[in-house]
Amino acid sequence: MSEWGDGTRCVRAGLPEPAPGDPFLPGPVFAAPYHLDPFSGPSTSPNGYGRPDNPTRRLLEAAVGELEGGDCRVFATGQAAITGLLLTLLRPGDTVVLPTDGYFPVRAFATDVLEAIGVRVLFVPTVGPYPSFEGVRLVLVETPANPGLDVVDVAALAEQAHAAGALLAVDNTTATPLGQRPLDLGADLVVASGTKALTGHSDLLLGYLASRSTELIDAVTTWRTTTGAVPGAFDAWLAHRSLATLDLRLARQSANAAAVVDLLAGRSDVTGLRWPGRPDDPAYPVASAQMRRIPGVLSFDLGDADRVGRFVAAARLVAAATSFGGLHTTADRRAQWGDDTAPGFVRLSCGAEDTADLVADIAAALDAAGSV
Ligand SMILES: *Cc1c(COP(=O)(O)O)cnc(C)c1O
Repeated sequence: MSEWGDGTRCVRAGLPEPAPGDPFLPGPVFAAPYHLDPFSGPSTSPNGYGRPDNPTRRLLEAAVGELEGGDCRVFATGQAAITGLLLTLLRPGDTVVLPTDGYFPVRAFATDVLEAIGVRVLFVPTVGPYPSFEGVRLVLVETPANPGLDVVDVAALAEQAHAAGALLAVDNTTATPLGQRPLDLGADLVVASGTKALTGHSDLLLGYLASRSTELIDAVTTWRTTTGAVPGAFDAWLAHRSLATLDLRLARQSANAAAVVDLLAGRSDVTGLRWPGRPDDPAYPVASAQMRRIPGVLSFDLGDADRVGRFVAAARLVAAATSFGGLHTTADRRAQWGDDTAPGFVRLSCGAEDTADLVADIAAALDAAGSV
């Protein structure tokens, strides 16, 4: 399997062996209970009840697991996967390292819930400096971090964590498994939101966790079964269907981001431009060594909230929306959600529009927005 390119792997990921008369990707199996064998009960089939297992979900897990290079469990949302990981592993008295500049609801969960149950939380910027990991149970990094797009060297951090007896988990949401494979780089666990570029159609919520450790997968599976944060069969099927085009979507999104970055870098009315694929970006050296491709997400500052509003209102191809990684280009002024970013900070997620159309539209919208 590994000798195939990304496009081939995406198209085939998780599909059952071909059988005459069967579809390529079987449709969603909608079931809460399944028929049981009246004598042997649930022991003869994995399909007994829908919370522990569902065949549509299993195919999606096989697909994402192939792309990440580990075993996978999917969750109802990315947040369910991440909080599930944290609560599976952490006990009162444990220490966890989390990013200061990572996904904001994870930070809120850490201070509201983890600290309240006696877990020590150390917040560290993605770029470091990282403290000694002696006595740390889990280090969770996000790379590239959302929304600031800083990047950290996963292999170096895995070595440091393992030397101290800590586990390393990587939030792979922004990169996707085609952008980087954290398990190959030495991470123990991958967590991610499948809501963003992985599925890319802005029509479902999904999360997943992947690992090569049977012990960790078993513990997380028990957590998921007992707490119940599973995706429905239809969302799992839609997600699997969408995976087939991941390579195509990322290629266009990344090319669009490169072209938009070229435009923005040449404009004196745009500041704070960040994209890990730009050679003079601080994240470029590590990103270009560690990542297999750069996502279509970039960020910049337009000075204040009103100018961001004028820019988005003037653009025909840029929708005001949160989330990212979808087929439609979107802009999100993160401060409106309470994220601790500057008032004019914009995360721009490039979609799959034609590059020339998108660049022209953004240039015209910036002209129309005027200055602060
Ligand atoms: C969106 C996101 C999440 C949460 O995912 P949901 O599917 O919205 O719950 C976690 N981490 C990162 C980096 C994200 O961007």
